[in-house]
Amino acid sequence: MQSLTILGATGSIGVSTLDVVARHPERYRIFALTGQTQLPRLAAQCSRFQARYAVVGDAASAAQLASLLRDLGASTEVLHGPAQLAAVAEASEVDVVMAAIVGAAGLRPTLAAARAGKRVLLANKEALVMSGALFMAAVEAGGATLLPIDSEHNAVFQALPPTYRRDPDAVGVRRILLTASGGPFRDRAIESLVSVSPEEACAHPNWAMGRKISVDSATMMNKGLEVIEAHWLFGVPADRIEVVVHRQSVIHSMVDYVDGSVLAQLGNPDMRTPIAHALAFPERIDAGVSPLDLFATGRLDFEQPDPRRFPCLPLAYAALRAGRGVPAAMNAANEVAVDAFLAGRLAYLSIARVVESVMNAMAGAGDASLEELESVDAEARALAQSWVHAEKVA
Ligand code: NAD
Ligand code: MG
Repeated sequence: MQSLTILGATGSIGVSTLDVVARHPERYRIFALTGQTQLPRLAAQCSRFQARYAVVGDAASAAQLASLLRDLGASTEVLHGPAQLAAVAEASEVDVVMAAIVGAAGLRPTLAAARAGKRVLLANKEALVMSGALFMAAVEAGGATLLPIDSEHNAVFQALPPTYRRDPDAVGVRRILLTASGGPFRDRAIESLVSVSPEEACAHPNWAMGRKISVDSATMMNKGLEVIEAHWLFGVPADRIEVVVHRQSVIHSMVDYVDGSVLAQLGNPDMRTPIAHALAFPERIDAGVSPLDLFATGRLDFEQPDPRRFPCLPLAYAALRAGRGVPAAMNAANEVAVDAFLAGRLAYLSIARVVESVMNAMAGAGDASLEELESVDAEARALAQSWVHAEKVA
């Protein structure tokens, strides 16, 4: 029996994780569930899975959740604030931590889980992008097992030898090929992107996800974050990570070996597959995902990504090559820009411009400590806010 904490239980990944857990009550029990909003959903989850703890953002939410739990007759203890988020991730009773908070807010509790040597299921790619070197050092020092949930990285993990240790040359890996759906605007006239609305950007053709990652998929910043994520997870340099637009989202990514073999992982686009894979690894369990119907799929298409359509992708490669604190600055700027876009305060095409301006201004950002990274994050957010303002006025 494995004891599980889900950071970000109320989100898209959190809900899919609980769906898989519910199929295997003999294998997993819930220690803690956390959420920032959607308190009725969190209360229902805590009651159904008999969570020992729930963690929310502040005292007012905690009081509200406690009252919802009383109405449901649930005995879950309610905690709040960042310190408690880390506490339920590193508690000695916990075996597995699903890191599914969106954005930089997930960094501290995910790091806490890594330092405490947990099996860390990493969905929160922003945490790794922000602090790659520090995060991987924490995994090493804590003796944690890091398993990727992002479907591309989970696919690469499955296509690598089980003994893989972040050294591509040791096992004859030439390149990593990350597939990208191309998002909702892959076929739309580039000139018409000036008038994109949040609803259009969030209408992903192949995946149902949270709003922030949906916008990132439209701009392809998501793929850019994933290139950086792949670099840290697998120890592969930027020039050996290639992005391939594959509109069917059936091949979730590939590994190209020096003997000419290319190994791929295929499946329906359903996050319960990588979640179940990482939960049960090295075993396999039912994820509730229907079998892939290759005859219905019919064909698999591949294209090169167009940098004019997706300017965030070259920005992310540039951030990875610049290294140190630049990916953290890029990530923070993107979070602010996407937030502003979703709130109707920034035009779609300005997202990349805000990110680029912040990256240029912060080219010397460092990454020596968590504190330095958090100050880079804060400075980049402030700069991005001022650029959002300037773009809007312009
Ligand atoms: P979501 O918006 O649906 O859920 C986010 C979760 O984080 C919610 O539980 C929310 O309450 C919590 N949260 C938000 N802000 C918080 C804060 N400041 N402090 C504490 N908790 C906070 O997002 P999602 O789509 O589930 O994505 C979660 C993460 O997984 C992201 O990093 C995303 O990039 C990654 N991911 C998601 C998918 C997917 O299919 N949804 C696929 C690959 C990777
Ligand atoms: Mg992905």
